[in-house]
Amino acid sequence: MSILTQKTIKTPIHFGGVGLHSGKEVKMKILPSEPNSGIVFKRIDLEKNNIVIPNVYNVNRASFCTTISNEHGVEVSTIEHLMGALYILGVDNALVELTSQEVPIMDGSARDFVKLILETGLKVSKAPIKLIKINKQISLEDGSKFIKIDKSNVSLDIRFEIKYSNSLIGNQINKVNVYEDDLSDIYSSRTYCLFEDIDKLKKLGLAKGGSLNNAVVVKDKEVLNKDGLRNKLEFVNHKILDCIGDVYLSGYRMIGSIDCSQGGHSLTNQLLREVFQDKSNFSVFEVSGKNLPTTFVNKSQLKSIA
Ligand SMILES: [Zn+2]
Repeated sequence: MSILTQKTIKTPIHFGGVGLHSGKEVKMKILPSEPNSGIVFKRIDLEKNNIVIPNVYNVNRASFCTTISNEHGVEVSTIEHLMGALYILGVDNALVELTSQEVPIMDGSARDFVKLILETGLKVSKAPIKLIKINKQISLEDGSKFIKIDKSNVSLDIRFEIKYSNSLIGNQINKVNVYEDDLSDIYSSRTYCLFEDIDKLKKLGLAKGGSLNNAVVVKDKEVLNKDGLRNKLEFVNHKILDCIGDVYLSGYRMIGSIDCSQGGHSLTNQLLREVFQDKSNFSVFEVSGKNLPTTFVNKSQLKSIA
């Protein structure tokens, strides 16, 4: 199948679960949609003003998770893992219906989203995909946090670093080429927190749905989840998943190179706002077979979906 044309899912997919922060039960349905419609969220618990578009400028909160809202103040939160799965699988168009404000957290990673979308399969249209190509280096700092975006030839490269005084997490660095690498460790990596932060999160009204079933919890030198970690770099790999999902709020997939140290949803969003405020920073181009280098082809994706 061609990666040069837009795709949606073949048939509707149902998910059920709980919101990580709200603790609310939620049902989610992903439905096929037409070319050039993009990813669209719809709050079916509301009768009107219920469409929310995942766009860089619609992010109204980005601490702990990515929350988007429309002009009527209707919100959808914790969208980043689903957006990461849709990006990784090359889903350009889909309608995501929710019965509550928060996307279900599932197991804390994007693994269930990826698995069910792959099982359902993708429907290929004839409409060419569009890509955003970064033209210039832009960087942002916030204390010890740092993020930089730069141009690349044909890939989206993400290098991420985390530094924790907790010695089990410690310093982790990983780098991926999003279109070439096997991303199973990325989309299977779960969200995490330190045991001592749970009270703080709860006092902020967050993590009400959090449990060892949907987050890795680290207490001193121990992972409290009974099966331990899913991969050696699960912590930084989850941050890369978050980053991929947040980048998809650009509307299209991207050609560029991102380097981030200790950042997260907020810093990624600030960076993308900076990129899009000046048209010389980026180009959007429509891809035809002729103008796309063959190395763009995501081999692992072709293997798994073809
Ligand atoms: Zn996350």
